[in-house]
Parts: sequence; structure tokens; C-alpha cells
Amino acid sequence: MSEHDTLRRFIFEELPVQGRHVHLDASWRAALERQDYPASVRALLGETMAAAALLSATLKFDGSITLQIQGTGPVHLLVVQCTSGLNLRGLARWNGDLASLSFREMVGDGRLVMTIEQQDKTERYQSIVPLEGETLSASLESYFARSEQLATRLWLTAGDGSAAGMLLQLLPDRQTDADAWQHVTVLTDTLKQAELAGLSAQEILHRLYNEDDVRLFEGAPVAFRCQCSRERIEHTLRGLGHAEVHSILEERGSVDVDCEFCGKRYSFDLVDAESLFSGSFPLPTGSAKH
Ligand SMILES: [Zn+2]
Repeated sequence: MSEHDTLRRFIFEELPVQGRHVHLDASWRAALERQDYPASVRALLGETMAAAALLSATLKFDGSITLQIQGTGPVHLLVVQCTSGLNLRGLARWNGDLASLSFREMVGDGRLVMTIEQQDKTERYQSIVPLEGETLSASLESYFARSEQLATRLWLTAGDGSAAGMLLQLLPDRQTDADAWQHVTVLTDTLKQAELAGLSAQEILHRLYNEDDVRLFEGAPVAFRCQCSRERIEHTLRGLGHAEVHSILEERGSVDVDCEFCGKRYSFDLVDAESLFSGSFPLPTGSAKH
């Protein structure tokens, strides 16, 4: 019996390896409600959400991790964000018919952008790697090999209403322990997709590592929750500039912005919109009259 929307950490008592397991149910399905995704895109979104949840658990501060696939295939954009508090959101953009395409065929020769941001926005790291693996997990692993020099493996699956994943990492100060790494990864490679999808963390650890001493920690809940707010949309509108916002108002009577992650609509009428620029609003460039 699998646990719903839960992330759990585990460690090997005798080996310098730590792991995470995540199972997503309602949190993944909430993301799927926003659009009518083809099955292959649904699965890729589920795998990416599982990966983001696993990776967010490795953050050393309050913040978020964003995985962005910029594809050159039919899936041209897929964005998933997970905060260190395990609030998850995601969406994908695609075009054309995607019946039974592989990962490679969906994303083409795209790239993967990983952004790690501190909550107060004081620190922001971004890494870009080519999507050169045959799977999302292979592409993420090559990211770690290139950017982090941390031995990291991921196993991901998604389908039939739930997505799941596992992450293993050699402890940073024990990166040369190849035997331990080989031992756990060879065992984990025997895990079948159906087992990853259907078993609980405890069952998986027992199934894979019953010869090893593994400690499984309490689970933390994962939820689909958007970080959008009226304040953020206001900030974006201010960034657009007074002239641009004013011209939308003249054309449509109001400015409506739909959050692309959760579908929530933010409406600004003339008074709302003008008040964004009241106070110290600069004249739009080129509109000064003489
Ligand atoms: Zn939203």
C-alpha cells in the first residue's frame, strides 16, 4: 500500500548513501486538471513533479527549485516548481499529436534549466544542461555529473493517477566510495516501474535492501499549491509599464491575468490598474507632450 502525496528520507546506516522516496497522487492530479494533457505529456509532467519534489528535499535553505524543460520537439515548455515546504506546481505546453512518443521525441534536442532560489530572493543559481539522455532521469543525472559533481541517481515513474520517484545520493564528503555506490545502485536498478509506482517506501526499501541496515524517516506531506498572488501579478503589470497596461484597458475594458499554474484569474479594472501606477509613475517613454 503506497502512501499518498508523501516524501520520505532514508539513510543507509553502514553506507555513505542517502535517499528520498516520493509518491504523488492528488498533488499530481491537481496539476493535470488545468489542461487536457495527452497521456505522454501527463506522464512527463508527473515524472518531473516527482523529480522536483525529490530535489527540493536536498535544498539547504528555505526556497524553491524550478525544473524547466525547453524542448525543440512537440513539448516546447514544461515547468515544475517545488518549494522546500513541498508545495508543488507545474504545467506543460505542447503542440501537435503526441501519441506514444518517447521522451527524446517529445523534447527533441532541448535543454533543461534548473533554478534554485532562496525564498527572500537573495540567492539564485541557474544551471543549464542539454537534454541528452533517453529519459528525464538520465538527463537529470547528467546535470548532477556536470554541475554538482555529486553522484546522484533518480528513478521516476508516472501513470494511472500517481507518480513516484526515488533519489539516491552519495554523501558529499564520501564521493570516492565507489563500492558502496555500486552496491546500492545495482540493487535499485532491479526495481520495476510497477513496484516504484505501487509500493510504499517501506516496501520498496525492504524489497531492495533487505540485506542492508536502512533507516526510514517520517514522511512529509506534498501538496499542489500555487504561489501566485495579486501582489505578484501587480508586480508583473508594473513591469509591463503604464502605456502597455493602459492600451490593454482601452482595448478590453479590464486587464485579466490567468495564473498559468493554477488557472486562478486576477482582474484589474480601470481604477485598479491606474492605481498600480499612481504616486510616482513615470510618463511612458515617447508620450511626453510639448
Ligand atoms: Zn496560481
